[in-house]
Amino acid sequence: MAGGISCICGAPLVEEVTDRGIYPVGGGALIPFRRTTDYVMCDSCLRTYDVRSLMARAETAESIESLERLAETVEEAEQG
Ligand SMILES: [Zn+2]
Repeated sequence: MAGGISCICGAPLVEEVTDRGIYPVGGGALIPFRRTTDYVMCDSCLRTYDVRSLMARAETAESIESLERLAETVEEAEQG
């Protein structure tokens, strides 16, 4: 799990982005995409985000997470 995505103002934007839709902050049902040009609005500053860019960010976060995990594994192997 990549964790939530936050707005640049610091407010949490979405709980999770998947290829089918987004999960709202604080829990709740999946909000499916109606089309690929959907936007998500920040409750605090009303900034809007392109869902596609959010998905890209979620994918990036996941890649970084798995890279960090890989690095940890290598360190453990070196120590052991
Ligand atoms: Zn905001």
